[in-house]
Amino acid sequence: MNQESMLERTLVLLKPCIVMRGLMGEIITRFERKGLRIVGMKMLQMDDELLRQHYSHLVSKPFFPILRDSMQASPVVAMCVEGLEAVRVVRAMAGVTNGRDAAVGTIRGDYSMSGQQNVVHASDSPLAAKEELARFFRPDEVFDFGDINLDVLYAADEVDRKA
Ligand code: UDP
Ligand code: MG
Repeated sequence: MNQESMLERTLVLLKPCIVMRGLMGEIITRFERKGLRIVGMKMLQMDDELLRQHYSHLVSKPFFPILRDSMQASPVVAMCVEGLEAVRVVRAMAGVTNGRDAAVGTIRGDYSMSGQQNVVHASDSPLAAKEELARFFRPDEVFDFGDINLDVLYAADEVDRKA
């Protein structure tokens, strides 16, 4: 089995800034429109421990308390997003961290003017995606869509079918 033909899963968080702006649907629609499959989704309030784990690489930064407050300002929406090379594709869709630098056409480029209130989190590597998905979803909260609609999303030889 070719590694490239395996569907990959990645974590997306809709941050409080976009939840509170009432624009969750617009962002969710972008992933659906692209042809990615949302195979898990829930709303949750991030507590201090989850935040420190999720942003462990930033805990010692001076801006961490501000980041923590912004991430706890409302619930977030966590999504498990599936597709071929989903980690790389979703990062590209998100754009660079600072919304003012992000290219127009990317999510951050289209919806953010901030280096912090930047709409989405997206896992930055397949390893991070695995760890982050395990942090946000129990196994029974992520669903197997099987081969449904793969024929219209991918060429016959691009993705391994179950059968
Ligand atoms: N962040 C910030 N100031 C910084 C760097 C990051 O407020 O100087 C916030 C921002 O919301 C970013 C998050 O911390 O999305 C995680 O930072 P990371 O470097 O992992 O960026 P990302 O992977 O989200 O692009
Ligand atoms: Mg990151």
